[in-house]
Parts: sequence; structure tokens; C-alpha cells
Amino acid sequence: MKHIEIASWLRETDEGRLVSLWERADQVRRDHVGDAVHLRGLIEVSNYCRRSCLYCGIHSGNRELPRYRMERSEVLASAELAASLGYGSVVLQAGEDPCLTVEWLSDVVTAIKSKTGLAITLSLGERPVGDLGRLRAAGADRYLLRFETSNPELFARIHPPWPNLPDRITLLRRLRELGFEIGSGVMVGIPGSSFEDLARDLLLFQELDLDMIGVGPFIPHPATPLGGAGCVERSPDQPGNDELTTLKVVALARLLCPQANIPATTALATIDPVAGRELALRRGANVCMPNLTPTKYRKLYEIYPDKACVSEASTQCDGCLRGRIARIGRHVGVGPGASPRYLGGLERVSAAGC
Ligand code: SAH
Repeated sequence: MKHIEIASWLRETDEGRLVSLWERADQVRRDHVGDAVHLRGLIEVSNYCRRSCLYCGIHSGNRELPRYRMERSEVLASAELAASLGYGSVVLQAGEDPCLTVEWLSDVVTAIKSKTGLAITLSLGERPVGDLGRLRAAGADRYLLRFETSNPELFARIHPPWPNLPDRITLLRRLRELGFEIGSGVMVGIPGSSFEDLARDLLLFQELDLDMIGVGPFIPHPATPLGGAGCVERSPDQPGNDELTTLKVVALARLLCPQANIPATTALATIDPVAGRELALRRGANVCMPNLTPTKYRKLYEIYPDKACVSEASTQCDGCLRGRIARIGRHVGVGPGASPRYLGGLERVSAAGC
């Protein structure tokens, strides 16, 4: 698909044509990743952050926010809960917390692997390549690092004090070379973005040949520079930070990257708690990420306000999600649920005897 066609889908308002987009995305999803919905247990390890991203509720300038860092034993208990609930993987996510040292993280990764055997995804922001290699050697399988926008000027404006988009893209490529499955994504409707930017974001997903693609609407957080009412006023060129636009991005991501794992994100469930997840799952998505962070910490990891499932117990989230998946005629995936793109690569490597 060319840029012009993607941008025109993003602007599409005709309901009949949109139905054809949803149907194509759902068919491609079924053909390439099947009917399984993989559950990834999300563990929000620390809300300390050294960065000042203009959109994020846990940015370093938010002095009102009490900070926490989970204990090793708490992280392990959450991972064991994931295993006992039958999930195939956990995601360790945090702000860019310098006190989460590579030694501490490697030890936790190794312990989770030996106790549970689960696939481990890290989402810890930008870290030195040497650290990432050590984490891979310790047993981490996947890395999520959203590039947030493919527009370098916009990226620079919203990411002080390290505003370099090419660095982040290079890091994603290095992660791939280290043998990680790589994930990235964007927020839809960032103030100052355009439909043309969003179309380029989608082409960059394809160019990077991502294993995982996470997209959710930008949700203004009042304790951030982009949280004021004025920031959501937008020009006709700026895509909405709404459900329809997000679903179009999910569907187009599926068409451009047929083998990727694509979650129905919590941000989408936040703006539509009733049907957001189901709609995404029927328009290209094949993953959900139930929150396994201990309840006492969850409220403190509000990267955006009123985050879905903030006060539910992990077992409640599990039951709720399984019900939603069954009601749309799908089933919960078994095992680690790596992307077929990644598994195909491994097969090619072993066939070549490398
Ligand atoms: N520190 C890690 C994890 C960040 S939180 C990292 O930098 O990768 C994970 C994602 O939440 C971010 O990549 C961003 O896309 C999303 N996010 C943050 N603030 C948001 C907001 N206000 N609205 C919607 N999504 C947001």
C-alpha cells in the first residue's frame, strides 16, 4: 500500500468502505495469526523516570506523584501469577529508571525464566546496547519500544531532553540484531501530528518489519504539558485521538504487517471500556495485556488518566478478558505466542544450519 492510499483510509468516513476495511483486516488476521488471542501479563515494575516526555503522566517533572519500585520478590510473585493463570508471557514495563540496574534486571529475568519458563518482554525505554545484550543473554525474548511518531520534528518537540528519533529507530534495529522480537508503535492523535505523519508511521511499521505493534489513542493527562484543554483543539490535518481513528490504524497495521502480534491496547479500552477491546480484536488485533501489577501500585502508574482496570484484582481482569474473548468466538492462545514472522526466521536459520 502506498502512502497516499493509507492517508486516504485514515481520512475515510464512508461507513460501507470502512466495513470493507474491517473485513479485510479481520480476514488477514485469521489467515496469518489465527483465532487465538494471546494474553501477556503486564507488570509495571517502577514509575521512576529520568525523562520528561510531554504526554506521559509519570514524566520526571510530575512532583506530585509518589514513586515506587517493586521488590524482586513482588515481580517474581506477579510472574508466577501469570504462569498460574495460564499466560505464555509477561511484560516488564517501567519508566526509564536508572536504579533498575542491568544486574538487578538480569537477575530478575533469569529467575522468572527458571521458575516459570514464560516468554519475557521488556519495555524499559532506551538503554545502552550493552545492557540490552546482557538482558537478552539473561533470557529476555522481546523488547517493546514505541517510536511514538515518525515525524522527527514532532518527536523532538515531545521528547525532551533526549529528542532524537533516529537513535530510537537505530536501537530497534540493534534489538533485532541481538535476537529480540521487536515491538514498536505510536499514539494516535498526538497534538501537532498530521494524517500524513500517521500514514508514514504505518509505513515505518512495515519497513521495520515489526513482530509486535502497539497503537492506542493519545489521552491527555492533566499533570503534563500536553494535558491542557487547548492541546486537544486540532487543525483539520490532525487525526483525532479517538476510537475510530485508532481502529483504522489497527486495521491498516494488520494489512501492512500481516504476521505481527497486535494488542487491543489498554488505552483503547480506557476511551471505550464497553467495547474497545472487542472492536480492536475484530479489526486486526490478536493480543490482550491483562494487568498483573499489584493493585497497590497500579494507581501510581497512570501514564494517562482513568486507565482501564486500575482497581480490579488480577484474577478479575483475567475472568473479564476471557469472557470478552469467548463472546466474540475466539479462544485464548496457549504457549509463548511468538510472531510467525519471528518463528519463520528461526526456521530459516536452522534450515541453513547456522
Ligand atoms: N518507559 C517505557 C514505557 C512507557 S509507557 C518506554 O519509554 O518505552 C508505554 C507507552 O504508553 C508509551 O510508549 C506511550 O506510547 C504510551 N503513553 C504514554 N503516555 C500516554 C498518554 N498520555 N496517552 C496515551 N498513551 C500514552
